[in-house]
Order: sequence, then structure tokens, then C-alpha cells
Amino acid sequence: MDYIKVDKEKCGLCGGCVAVCPKKVILMHKEHLEFTDGCIKCDRCIKVCPVGALNKNE
Ligand code: SF4
Ligand code: SF4
Repeated sequence: MDYIKVDKEKCGLCGGCVAVCPKKVILMHKEHLEFTDGCIKCDRCIKVCPVGALNKNE
């Protein structure tokens, strides 16, 4: 999935985006997030991230 871009320097793996995603397409691994297929582009993950680590891929 390439709709969302993760800034790995900012992401603290808090799990907030994982919890809010209505399609459960965000998986949390030990040291990174994985965005799988099925994103409906609702932007909830972008809005919930406390450190602004998620952005749309332009
Ligand atoms: S945009 Fe919505 S559906 Fe897509 S990963 Fe973020 S929260 Fe999930
Ligand atoms: S909400 Fe932001 S800081 Fe938290 S896991 Fe998701 S991208 Fe990382």
C-alpha cells in the first residue's frame, strides 16, 4: 500500500494509528509499521498520530 508514507524518524510505535484504522490494514512489527492492502483512504491514521509521522504519498 503506498497511500500512506511513514516518517520512521518520527514514529514512536505508539500504536495509535493501528488502533484507529477501521480496516485494520496497519500492522505493528517490532521496529516498524507495515501497511497492508485494503486502505480506504479515510485519513484517520494521519489525524491520530501524535507526532505527525504519517503523511499521504504525493
Ligand atoms: S487511511 Fe484509513 S484505512 Fe487507510 S491506513 Fe489510514 S486509517 Fe487505515
Ligand atoms: S500513531 Fe504515529 S507514532 Fe503512533 S505508531 Fe502510528 S505512525 Fe507511529
